[in-house]
Amino acid sequence: FRRPSEHTPGHKIHEVENTCLFCRILGGEIPATVVHRTETTLAFRDIDPKAPSHVLVIPVAHHANVIELAADPAAAADVLATAAKVAELEGLTDGFRVIFNTGEHGGQDVFHVHAHVVGGAPLGPMLA
Ligand code: 5GP
Repeated sequence: FRRPSEHTPGHKIHEVENTCLFCRILGGEIPATVVHRTETTLAFRDIDPKAPSHVLVIPVAHHANVIELAADPAAAADVLATAAKVAELEGLTDGFRVIFNTGEHGGQDVFHVHAHVVGGAPLGPMLA
């Protein structure tokens, strides 16, 4: 668990100290099943998988959502590269989805940006 002073630029101190679940996973305070890790990203299994393979990819830097992530192009590129690596590691050769739920209509529940990498079966027209 990183102290705010040690945390990567882009964090919101309040969330890092008190509420950000995924910062706590990054810090090892809350366990997760890690699929892949780089210096700037972490990929771990969703606790409530919606498909045979359901992995979340997060940047180490705290950004609340994909809009904030887009303002940090290096972090955005690293998240996508890790998503592609996850698809390879998970053997999703028949296809997969990369989803950023955003805001109320998007159904975002955790406000540390995360790419859902889902696959392993035909997903239908939309992921519920
Ligand atoms: P969102 O709805 O914000 O796009 O996605 C949040 C995701 O995080 C959900 O799919 C949910 O199952 C997952 N999740 C919530 N809490 C935890 C947790 O403590 N550990 C893991 N691995 N996943 C979590």
